[in-house]
Amino acid sequence: MAAKLIKGTEISKQIREEIAKEIEELKQKHGVTPGLATILLGEDPGSKVYVGQKEKACNKLGIYSERTDLPADTSEDDLLELVKKLNDNPKIHGILVQLPLPKHIDAERVIYAIDPDKDVDCFNPVNVGKLMLGTGRFLPCTPHGIMELLRRSDITTEGKHVVVVGRSNIVGKPIANMMMQRPSGGNATVTLCHTGTKDLAAFTKMADILIVAVGHPKTITADMVKEGVVVIDVGVNRIGKTPEGKAILAGDVDFDAVQEKAAAITPVPGGVGPMTITMLMRNTVEAAKASI
Ligand code: NAP
Repeated sequence: MAAKLIKGTEISKQIREEIAKEIEELKQKHGVTPGLATILLGEDPGSKVYVGQKEKACNKLGIYSERTDLPADTSEDDLLELVKKLNDNPKIHGILVQLPLPKHIDAERVIYAIDPDKDVDCFNPVNVGKLMLGTGRFLPCTPHGIMELLRRSDITTEGKHVVVVGRSNIVGKPIANMMMQRPSGGNATVTLCHTGTKDLAAFTKMADILIVAVGHPKTITADMVKEGVVVIDVGVNRIGKTPEGKAILAGDVDFDAVQEKAAAITPVPGGVGPMTITMLMRNTVEAAKASI
């Protein structure tokens, strides 16, 4: 039987409607307009698209958006100076420096320079540490989006075995951490797999909920999952182009085969993807609320 589709596009729309109401209330009651600053260095087409999408989402929701596009050869000192100015700007509640940065810039130094109260990506080590302690104000956007997808699809994580494949700082590590937290998280039993894992399938077959973020299509095939698994496919892989030149996207999971065994699964596109920017908007509103 084909799996239930976890439709990120619809869930994201629902959350954005809730956020829009909160923004209206913030404006009416407190005279505060949430503000997000984005910084883009260079001409990378993918990064331009992402920053453009974030700007568009802000405009649609009524979030004040301040975008700075800088040349790729901008010095680290100039970038740090801009971050400092934005840290001190009361109109700005969230700061996002689009990654990756050009090689001559120490990305870690730049991320560390963002005021933790404005670090809406949740990449600053202060916020990463708080996440680990289960006391953070911000949750990183993609993992937070995954938690919301599950919650709003009535899929409980409590007591389940969650297997995460991939240990990146932006997806694998934080989602594994959030899933094992008790007060604010999933209260699940968590296994984290990576390229050092021997016999990956032995672990993925044990998953009640399987979260995959590796960046390679068809890493997870039907013989690697058990009947009734819930699959969250974070991967976004460009596997070709349509005759019109549009990118054809696929996740990290062999969707057609795995959906025959799964109870529920996220499609790519239209699953986790739309949630990431929505949760960035949510964090910006949270930061604005905290500034009152
Ligand atoms: P990343 O930094 O490249 O990390 C990939 C992780 O997967 C690494 O930990 C790597 O292990 C592990 N891995 C790779 N191949 C593996 C295999 N065959 N078996 C087991 N583990 C394997 O990737 P990322 O930034 O997390 O992104 C992963 C995917 O998610 C990409 O397709 C990316 O585009 C997508 N993504 C989507 C969103 C969204 O909003 N939808 C957001 C972020 C990322 P090692 O550590 O051992 O190398």
